[in-house]
Amino acid sequence: MHELSLAEDLVAKCAERSGGRRVLAVRVRCNAGVDAEELSAAFAVAAKQYAGRELEDATLELDVVPAHLKCSCGWAGELPEDSIAGHIGICPGCGHPTELSSGLELVGLRVAGDPVQG
Ligand SMILES: [Zn+2]
Repeated sequence: MHELSLAEDLVAKCAERSGGRRVLAVRVRCNAGVDAEELSAAFAVAAKQYAGRELEDATLELDVVPAHLKCSCGWAGELPEDSIAGHIGICPGCGHPTELSSGLELVGLRVAGDPVQG
């Protein structure tokens, strides 16, 4: 399951960044190559299984950005939502299916308590 490995990486990164503080929310930007629902479910699993207690109650906030495609037929641009099935994007130019790369970027963490100053 692709999303689980993404989620494991994400959780590991968050645990590292949290500096041992409890994480309330994790904000992530992902593109349409990532199944948002699956990722959310995988994140919940990964947060419980693969990290320390920092991530236990963290919620995942997803910003989904459009997938971009550059096809060998010359078509390039933002892929319309109805041209995407799972991890496969269908080129609007020639109908050729292309595997979408999964873009996932950790935007920020919200941790419990005020950040320690100085
Ligand atoms: Zn094409």
